[in-house]
Amino acid sequence: MSLRFLSTARTQLADIVIIGGGPAGLTLAAAVKNSSILSSLNCRLVEGGNLIGPLKSFHQKPPSNFTNRVVSLTPATISYLSDIGVWKHIKEDRVESYDNIVAWDGVSGAQIDFDGPSLATMCETVNLQSALLARIEELNEETAIMDNTKVENITSDEINGWPVLQLSSGESLKARLLVGCDGYNSPVRKFAQIESRGWSYNRWGIVATLKFKDGEFRYPTGWQRFLPSGPVALLPLPDNWTSLVWSTKPEYADILLKLDDDAFLAMVNAAVKLPVEELEILYKMAHEDPENLVGEITWRLNVFNEKLSPQETEKYPLELDTIVAKSRAKFPLKMSHADTYVEDRVALVGDAAHTTHPLAGQGLNMGQADVKSLVAVLEKSMERGLDIGTKLALEPYFSERYPANHVLLGVVDKLHKIYSTDIAPIVMARSFGVNILNNVPFVKDYVVSKMGEK
Ligand SMILES: Cc1cc2nc3c(=O)[nH]c(=O)nc-3n(C[C@H](O)[C@H](O)[C@H](O)COP(=O)(O)OP(=O)(O)OC[C@H]3O[C@@H](n4cnc5c(N)ncnc54)[C@H](O)[C@@H]3O)c2cc1C
Repeated sequence: MSLRFLSTARTQLADIVIIGGGPAGLTLAAAVKNSSILSSLNCRLVEGGNLIGPLKSFHQKPPSNFTNRVVSLTPATISYLSDIGVWKHIKEDRVESYDNIVAWDGVSGAQIDFDGPSLATMCETVNLQSALLARIEELNEETAIMDNTKVENITSDEINGWPVLQLSSGESLKARLLVGCDGYNSPVRKFAQIESRGWSYNRWGIVATLKFKDGEFRYPTGWQRFLPSGPVALLPLPDNWTSLVWSTKPEYADILLKLDDDAFLAMVNAAVKLPVEELEILYKMAHEDPENLVGEITWRLNVFNEKLSPQETEKYPLELDTIVAKSRAKFPLKMSHADTYVEDRVALVGDAAHTTHPLAGQGLNMGQADVKSLVAVLEKSMERGLDIGTKLALEPYFSERYPANHVLLGVVDKLHKIYSTDIAPIVMARSFGVNILNNVPFVKDYVVSKMGEK
């Protein structure tokens, strides 16, 4: 079975054109083809990057090391991916579920641990995308995925107002419904003249693939320490591997990315344990005297570890001693929310509609919930005989998803702000809140149940 590619130069008509082969776009394509009501629609997906070759090659022969883009999937997302027949294509030996998250305040030390059955599952983005592609191939002969094809321009058809896409291949496509799954800089959002509001966090998210020292086993746990410069998180992968997401100031990110692998590993070990004041000294040293950094951190960590009782030792992650070469990368962090997700002939999904700080691991999960909602709305429209591209038909998608996303974006934004300070009254207030949360079981159970819903 193969995906068909478009080859003619004239304008082609499609019922649904999806721009973007990221997680949101591929999930939408799979969900449309999985739907008995929508599967007969002519659905096209256009992706500017090289998508199909790398995803197929991952599916046939995954690399031995874990890749560095890893996301935390909620039970709700996995349940949806199972419902549309995608999860069975996931390489399960490369994912890790965990039922324990330990989060603590880098200034006061106040700690909270959440327990719940399969709170989240860590999965490489490429694993998810290749499973989605496998499902699309399994389902249909009709969805054409055009990769290495950029949407260069979008205009409105003079007669009926349908979006007309000019592609880098020279071809053009006209869509009854154009869905922008095209990320933060969404060309579709710009075409539809939808405002997006928000701000940059003036922080970078550094990612890397690391491994805990062999010899000691701990149940898979998510660790997140909130430093005033941003949270540092270690999220579990199989066999003692872990995925780092370290949000930090641009000047610190520059220093960290310039270090050699050993010095970088040492800085991560320091960041999950040492007091904030000591970390400031270490950043200065990393910048001015990187040759002596590893020795200095080893000494400081030995002093720190010697003071810990066996019970206290359990409250910190194990030492990291391996990093996958070239796995370090950084991404700008921002909050943004589009004023609307729908206009006549247009819908926005995933990061095209909203972006969030990764501290709660929700960005991709929100996009999956968008897809589920949009597909249900399109199914209803089809059953009622509506034109699926009209704003009237699309409105229920916006009214369902906007408030839910708005709440989550707000909560994550407040968390970032509350924890980005070391001002004493705020530190006291947040630590008090964390201690209450950690010690009042029914409040904590409620929070855990909400974490899995998104
Ligand atoms: C450090 C970090 C950690 C994160 N961790 C998590 C996590 O644990 N859990 C979670 O849920 N989320 C997480 N996220 C968020 C998550 O990665 C994103 O929300 C998700 O990848 C967005 O998917 P998307 O498909 O909407 O957009 P994208 O992945 O941005 O895909 C957009 C696609 O559109 C294509 N495109 C754009 N313009 C054009 C054009 N003109 N023509 C053709 N194609 C075009 C692009 O090439 C791209 O492939 C994290 C983000 C960061 C930065």
